[in-house]
This record gives sequence, structure tokens and C-alpha cells, in this order.
Amino acid sequence: MEISTETLVNGIKSGDKRLLGKAITLVESKKPEHRIQADLLLKEILPLSGKSIRIGVTGVPGSGKSTFIENFGKLAIEKGKKVAVLAIDPSSAVNKGSILGDKTRMEELSREENAFIRPSPSSGFLGGVANATFESMLLCEAAGYDYILVETVGVGQSEILVSDITDIFLFIKIIGGGDELQGIKRGIMEMIDVVFINKVNDNNIREAKNTKVELMRALHFLPSKEKDWKIPVLLGSALENKGLDKVYLEIENFINLKFTNNNFHKIRQEQAEKRFDYWVQNYILEELKTKENSENEYNSHKKNASELKSNPSSEARLWVEEIFKKKLIIYCLVCFSLHIHHNL
Ligand code: GDP
Repeated sequence: MEISTETLVNGIKSGDKRLLGKAITLVESKKPEHRIQADLLLKEILPLSGKSIRIGVTGVPGSGKSTFIENFGKLAIEKGKKVAVLAIDPSSAVNKGSILGDKTRMEELSREENAFIRPSPSSGFLGGVANATFESMLLCEAAGYDYILVETVGVGQSEILVSDITDIFLFIKIIGGGDELQGIKRGIMEMIDVVFINKVNDNNIREAKNTKVELMRALHFLPSKEKDWKIPVLLGSALENKGLDKVYLEIENFINLKFTNNNFHKIRQEQAEKRFDYWVQNYILEELKTKENSENEYNSHKKNASELKSNPSSEARLWVEEIFKKKLIIYCLVCFSLHIHHNL
């Protein structure tokens, strides 16, 4: 049964987790009628959104992201915050399997009154999923969540999307191993604001410290994202709850610095502009394919590109030019007939 927008809005405002979940399902849907309702819903809740700290969390599978989020979330709740957890899982789009979704995750945190955990979306293309994650984030903010943790796997594209919707980016690293080995590319390193070296104990503390030195050396050569911010590399154990308070503090420090530098809202605005551009491109493409009846031409140009008959950029330009030529002819015909009509 469809739930009315009003019921969803009231449910979100009153902190009803079931209705918040339903609202997220709605914004994740690609069905046109759902998009219309989703737009109405987002319009209603927008004034209530924007007040959380948005935290991206990345690291290779097994580095301890969910363990970290579970215990960090509990720590934040102890400090009086409400915590929501969302996930971007790139694997689901590629091979239908799921790196993030299948495990039983964060059981203790999910039992907390002041926590909301949304399992990762199980299908969809990355851009769309990331967009739904952003919209889900707005819904969580409207429901009063102070910290929104967006989890992803360190494989590349998903980090770029996460760093485009969050205020701070946290990297959970395991001891040793080159960054290449951990699948962490330079591009991802450039997005990082705080590093947490996980699974540190008495037996591996020396190795952990070496990893820290190596990492700090590598980070030293990267341009700083935020003026006067030296990326902290912290040691600890998510499982044993060690060092998480330091992460909490550094997140606060970073956010405060962003406010001091007048960058907090500025960067959110830039992020919104990027998303706007992304959607302009998407909607234009959809409109052109459907309304101009040119899906066949689109497919045939695309085929030429994929079969390497010509290069993709030339094919794309040809298709766009054809459409605009068609539009121009229609426009001229309309002007001409108006002119005749006027002269009669
Ligand atoms: P994710 O795939 O990055 O989300 O990693 P998980 O949080 O599922 O953790 C992977 C494994 O590492 C699990 O068996 C955890 O119990 C374990 N783990 C996580 N943090 C620590 C830690 O601080 N110390 C130890 N010894 N194990 C940990």
C-alpha cells in the first residue's frame, strides 16, 4: 500500500524509524510516479535538513569499518548524539553480489534507540545510488540525526561520490601493506581527512607505528584539502574500543576548522552545484532519448562507438548535433507557419 507524503513527513518529524525507512525506499525508487512523490517529500523536509555532520568512512573489506562504525556510533550516542548509518556498495552494481550488505552488521548499534541503520542498496548504478544516499541523508537529518556515517569500500569510484556528499572523510587502515596493496589509490588518499590505523595491539604496536610514519610521509606530499589541517594518523582498535575517542575529537576539530575557514557551507554549496550539473546531464539525456524519439539513433551511435567504428566523442557529438538540427527545423517550420498565419 502506498503511504501518503503527509504520513511520511509526520513520521520522519516524529522520529518514526519504520516510516523513515519507507521514505528512503521511496527516494531510492526509480519509478517515475515514485520520483514525483519523492520530490514532494524532499521539498517538505528540506528546511529540516542540513544540520548533521556527514562522515564518509572507507577502507578495504576486512579493515574493520563496520566494527568501527558500531563502536564509534555507540560512543557518539553516549555523548548525546543521534547516529544514522548509510552505505554505498559499489559491488552490487557490478556483480549483483554485495560486499557490504550481506553480513549481519552492527547488531548492537542497531538496537540503540538513537541509532538508525540502513542496509546498502542492493541494485542500481553508482551515480543513482549515490544520489539516493544523499537524499536518504536529508531524510535522516530531518528525523533529527546528528551524525550520518556513510560507509563505502575502498575501490575508487564510490569514494569520489562519498566525498562529494560528506563533510569529512575517514580512512580505516590496516597495519602494513603498501597502499597499492590495500587497493587505495592516490586519488582516494587525496580525499582523506583523518586516518585510523585499526587492529593495533601490544604485539603489533611497533609495526603500527612504522605504518603511521610511512603514511605520514606519503600524506605530506599531497595537497592539503583544508587550510591549516594536518591529517591526523591515529592508532587504535575498533573492536577493543581503543582510540575511538581521539577520532571523535579530531572530527570535531576538523569541522570546527571548516567553520573557522568559512568552508563548511561553501563546500556544501560546491557539492550541491556538482550534483546539479550531474542531474542536468542525466535529465537532458533522458529527455532527448524519450521526447525526441531518438532512442534508436542514440543506440546506433552508441553501437558505432562500442564497436570502435569511430571514437565515442565524435559519435556523441554527431547524435547531439542531429537532435539540435531536428529541433531547429521544427522551430523554423513553426515560425514560418505563424508568419503566414499572421499575414493572412
Ligand atoms: P569491514 O569489512 O571493513 O566492515 O570489517 P569488519 O568490521 O567486518 O571487520 C573484519 C574483521 O576484523 C572482523 O572479524 C572484526 O571482528 C575484526 N576486527 C575489526 N576491528 C578489529 C580490531 O580492532 N582488532 C581485531 N583484532 N580485530 C578487529
